[in-house]
Amino acid sequence: MTPATPAVVIVGAGPAGASLAMLLAERGVPVTLVEAARDAQRRFRGEGLMPSGLAALEAMGCGPLLTRLPHRSLSGWSFQLHGRQLFRVEEPLGNGPPCTLVSQPALLDALVERASQASNFHWKPGLAVVDLMHARERITGVVLSDGSRLEASLVVGADGRSSLVRQRAGLELQSQSSPIDLLWFRLPSHPRFEADNVFTMLLGEDGSACSVFHGALPGELQLGWVLSPGERIERSPQDWGEAFAAMAPSWLADHLRRVGPAISAPLKLSVQVGCCPRWQRPGLLLLGDAAHPMSPIRAQGINMALRDALVATNHLLAPLIRGDLAGIDTSLERIQAERFPEILRAQELQQQEARQAQLLRRSPLLRSILVQLAPWLGERIGSSWRQRQIPLRQGLAPVRLTV
Ligand SMILES: Cc1cc2nc3c(=O)[nH]c(=O)nc-3n(C[C@H](O)[C@H](O)[C@H](O)COP(=O)(O)OP(=O)(O)OC[C@H]3O[C@@H](n4cnc5c(N)ncnc54)[C@H](O)[C@@H]3O)c2cc1C
Repeated sequence: MTPATPAVVIVGAGPAGASLAMLLAERGVPVTLVEAARDAQRRFRGEGLMPSGLAALEAMGCGPLLTRLPHRSLSGWSFQLHGRQLFRVEEPLGNGPPCTLVSQPALLDALVERASQASNFHWKPGLAVVDLMHARERITGVVLSDGSRLEASLVVGADGRSSLVRQRAGLELQSQSSPIDLLWFRLPSHPRFEADNVFTMLLGEDGSACSVFHGALPGELQLGWVLSPGERIERSPQDWGEAFAAMAPSWLADHLRRVGPAISAPLKLSVQVGCCPRWQRPGLLLLGDAAHPMSPIRAQGINMALRDALVATNHLLAPLIRGDLAGIDTSLERIQAERFPEILRAQELQQQEARQAQLLRRSPLLRSILVQLAPWLGERIGSSWRQRQIPLRQGLAPVRLTV
């Protein structure tokens, strides 16, 4: 690539932006990665990687690196109704590795560090993109929060679900209604989760719902409490411990009561779901949550973001190396065409899961019938749940790195 060849600016160093920056920089493309935060340590970042996401990292050559990052696999999934187990399904489900929790800040740091080994990679943390530059119909660069400007032959908006790049580019997001928001807690672990890390979903007699599992970091459980959109709950840590315990089997309830005072203040996470009908315009591409904000249900968003980066690299590398603007724009359409069906299907399957969970939360009658029938029907319900998860784990389309 000649020095005159225009460069790529990637906005946002989440999974989509950091992995695309690494892949392109390692293949000789000048890349500037701009990240609003000073570091990757924001208070919450999802950790669940499905086999599809683990395979994407493997294809990027990050398999060995993953083993050095804080991580922990799940040993199974358990559904508890009114403190009694409806069913338990063991990991791994189907082929491939188990669902694995990987510390996302550590992963993002590692991707950026690997990209930094390429001399044509430029890293700009602590600077937000505040606007786009245009020349007629084409996007030609970005304006940063310090007033500086970066020209680019291609701007990639990987700046997450509230993407400013998407808004400034005038690309419409079609939002789907999300039936949930989440309150996120961290709490001290229990030896049973250390030995047997089951993602445990609890549904209480009043329809309250939460899930608890051991995260990637040592000694720490994570708990997500389901809120209806707009719902507010204020409780002391001790009262939260009681509320969790009321839904849990006795060994876990004892633990939750005991650690009550040490439960972290909750972090409210608003769930946004949707997809842009159009992810690109000349000189600009949206990827990851910027193009298709994903629900947290069954941990899809990081995996999809990594798969987006693989497909984008396949299509973009040759025209970027040639400095062929028309070729870049044509490849943007191809990237969306290849990724769109998988994203739509994954969001559809997530919605189906959400509808079923909502039905259970809203119907005390259905819950009490299931509790009564659990000894006879639990295994059958578990096996049907397991079958439904398989497509959400392996990916819904073949994705490979070909360049
Ligand atoms: C509660 C919750 C739990 C989740 N858990 C999981 C899970 O376990 N597994 C999973 O696969 N998915 C999970 N998801 C979804 C997942 O977090 C997202 O789909 C994924 O992070 C999207 O990656 P991304 O790179 O597109 O965007 P993000 O991860 O959102 O990264 C965007 C980056 O852009 C930066 N940025 C934003 N604006 C600007 C700007 N103007 N200039 C510069 N930088 C900017 C941000 O600081 C951020 O670092 C969860 C989502 C939620 C809401």
